[in-house]
Amino acid sequence: MSVDELFEMQESCVIFIAIADLKVRQKVINILREHGYNLSLVFDMYSFIITNREREYYSYTGSRECILCGNRVEKFRAAGESNPIFAEKKIIGGGYRENAVCPCCGSLDRTRWVYWVLKNYTKILEKECTAIHFAPEKQIQIKLEDSDNCDYYAGDVVRTSNLHKIDVTNIPYADKIADYIIINHVMEHVTDEKRAINELKRILKDDGKIIMSFPISMKQKTFEDSSIISDEDRVRYYGQKDHVRLYGTDYKERFEQYGLDIKVFSPKDFLTNEDIEKYGLIREDILLVCSKLKRDL
Ligand SMILES: [Zn+2]
Repeated sequence: MSVDELFEMQESCVIFIAIADLKVRQKVINILREHGYNLSLVFDMYSFIITNREREYYSYTGSRECILCGNRVEKFRAAGESNPIFAEKKIIGGGYRENAVCPCCGSLDRTRWVYWVLKNYTKILEKECTAIHFAPEKQIQIKLEDSDNCDYYAGDVVRTSNLHKIDVTNIPYADKIADYIIINHVMEHVTDEKRAINELKRILKDDGKIIMSFPISMKQKTFEDSSIISDEDRVRYYGQKDHVRLYGTDYKERFEQYGLDIKVFSPKDFLTNEDIEKYGLIREDILLVCSKLKRDL
């Protein structure tokens, strides 16, 4: 049935959407919304479907637990590219790994770590606050949009039906409006890093926090070369064709140079190996929680 046919039947037709892939499901809902379909007649039946493909993952007594959707599962799904550069350069937050994707909500291991830190080490879900989220992870976006306390704005370089268009090097917001800025796996795409960080600091309140992560090689210092522009070379040196650098072991000093105070959050420093396994996290994962230095206020 086409979208047009659906519209003709609008008042007599209730739509049940049962699609396992979160992105595809959201896309279908967005198409209906964009066409002005009465969304009160659309029901998301995802939680009722368990496909044969996924049945093996589900279990009320599963030993793994997703902290984003709360479901217990037998195991998380594998994910990530198998490009050998990820192993060669020991890149954290990229490359193929087991136990990465929650079969229920689609959250990634690194997204669950971001949420763990937000929940346990910030007040984002408890206090009245304004949060700006770049290239949002869908599952965290849903949590923050649902929060009564959080005034939430999500954006990306490309405008979509539910995202504002926000260029991180030229942010269309006033100074000092954000209590929290969440920006994961974005900086490795941004050519003018200094300008982006200055913009983030400009819109951040004096006591605000920037929650940031990116792929990091634990085998070398940050590497970038503006003459590397072909897709093949970028994949070869940075791991992905749209990356402009590969961060390395000097990541903390690099961002401290821009006048940020940085705390590093890694699962291995906060959780037991059993809990890291249970929640499907990357043991060595790195998340930065950045504040402005007092001297800059
Ligand atoms: Zn989940």
